[in-house]
Amino acid sequence: MTRDPDAAARETLRLIGPAPANWVSDRPGIGHNVVLVGGGQTGCAFAWAMRRAGIGKVSVIDAAPDERHAGVWLNAARMNLLRTPKSLVGPEIGLPSLSFQAWYEARHGQAAYAAIDRIPRVDWAGYLSWYRQFLGIEVRYGTMLTRIEPAGDHFRLHLSVGGAERVETTRKIVLANGVGGNGGPYLPPAVASLPASFRAHTADRIDFAALRGKSVAIVGAAASAFDAAGVALEAGAGEVRLYARRSAIAAVPISRSRGFPGAYDNYRSLPDAIRWQQAVRFQRSGSTPTVDAIARAVAFPNFHLHPGAGWTASRVEDGRVVARAGDADVACDFVIAGTGYFQDPNARPELAGFSEHILLWRDRYTPPAGEADDYLGAHPYLGEGHEYLEKTPGAAPFLGNIHVHTPAGFVSFGVPIGDVPSMKRDIPGVTAWISRDLFLADLPAHARRMMGDVAPDFGPELYAAAVGRDYRSA
Ligand SMILES: Cc1cc2nc3c(=O)[nH]c(=O)nc-3n(C[C@H](O)[C@H](O)[C@H](O)COP(=O)(O)OP(=O)(O)OC[C@H]3O[C@@H](n4cnc5c(N)ncnc54)[C@H](O)[C@@H]3O)c2cc1C
Repeated sequence: MTRDPDAAARETLRLIGPAPANWVSDRPGIGHNVVLVGGGQTGCAFAWAMRRAGIGKVSVIDAAPDERHAGVWLNAARMNLLRTPKSLVGPEIGLPSLSFQAWYEARHGQAAYAAIDRIPRVDWAGYLSWYRQFLGIEVRYGTMLTRIEPAGDHFRLHLSVGGAERVETTRKIVLANGVGGNGGPYLPPAVASLPASFRAHTADRIDFAALRGKSVAIVGAAASAFDAAGVALEAGAGEVRLYARRSAIAAVPISRSRGFPGAYDNYRSLPDAIRWQQAVRFQRSGSTPTVDAIARAVAFPNFHLHPGAGWTASRVEDGRVVARAGDADVACDFVIAGTGYFQDPNARPELAGFSEHILLWRDRYTPPAGEADDYLGAHPYLGEGHEYLEKTPGAAPFLGNIHVHTPAGFVSFGVPIGDVPSMKRDIPGVTAWISRDLFLADLPAHARRMMGDVAPDFGPELYAAAVGRDYRSA
């Protein structure tokens, strides 16, 4: 008899029992209680958490045409192994048999799990696909949010569904739209000025096969830059040169020092000055590539690393890119920028019309001399439920119903929100916050329900035979 790899997960679902019925009051004319924008690991984990919290009428939408193209794992992510440790809690939150470890061991055995150092990226994608299907989480693929229109106590969501425009309504929105969801991929001016056919960002779909035999420049020296270098080399690039601004590759994983439970659990309660200092410390130290990402590229003799050689200018000359890198002139056939993402709600079409009301760190906190940082200052200053806050109280109260679950929350919460390290703390926390908001918003109805008549479980006949009038012992 073949073993059922899902037996333990099925048993867990049996033991936790059915999800509670939807308790959220219906608002006539409003289609959804919550719309989760993004059906990657975050959107799916929220959908499950909300189901278990009895929050009904939750819909998950994703612009990608299908599961294969949703999320980063089989798309912009090019590393062989996840960057995060294998032991972190993921979307299983509190239910070990829904974890990656349980899923992997059920298919490959305990020894195989013990033998992997970190989680293979493709396996993680396979696990997330299983998680979604096993839990019956429906994602409406091919459904892109194009604009959020505040409409009093709810929102009108402008969607593009297979090219056709459509409007749906919801009370709450969770933006689970990924690393660029509150801004976009950042291209330094020296790369942005090149014609699009000569450059890409690591967020783009890149035709690496077309780089075979070519001279490729990578600008940036964090993990995605090294991953792109590795893939280009494996695809047969003639040479790959990686240009770093710093004089050495960032080697200190600075945020590890705040990974202990006290700091992790209570980060949001820290004073602004400490959260800012932490963010500045991270920013100045730089994002570290993994050891294996560096080793993967360095293994190729046609890989060259140029520290202290940030690009300051570039142009196309005789069909090639010519650039100023540090104090040298360099040339290549194609450039890939592994230069991360910028934060700016004003750049998001979904938020057009009200983005100027969103409170940012620079509005809220003036750093001391020497700690100024424009990049960090552009991050939204989020509330406890990851909701946008208003710059001017009362000017845009609906912002409290837009919850942001992307790395935009990094300065506020100390971990890149949406990444695996954020899941254990923030998916339950934000779900509880949304539950509270929905409950309190309809308090009169819920108060009536709590005061309502409850039918008796039994009548006096159940104990009538034992009712005695004689108090003496026999
Ligand atoms: C190259 C790379 C490597 C990474 N490696 C790691 C790692 O090792 N460990 C880790 O913890 N994290 C890593 N991260 C961070 C990673 O993005 C998250 O862990 C994970 O992808 C977050 O899942 P998510 O569901 O929040 O976002 P995503 O996986 O990015 O999913 C967002 C979804 O939103 C959809 N979407 C976007 N805009 C709209 C819209 N307007 N309407 C509808 N749908 C929309 C997209 O189609 C996408 O499917 C990495 C990120 C990158 C870019």
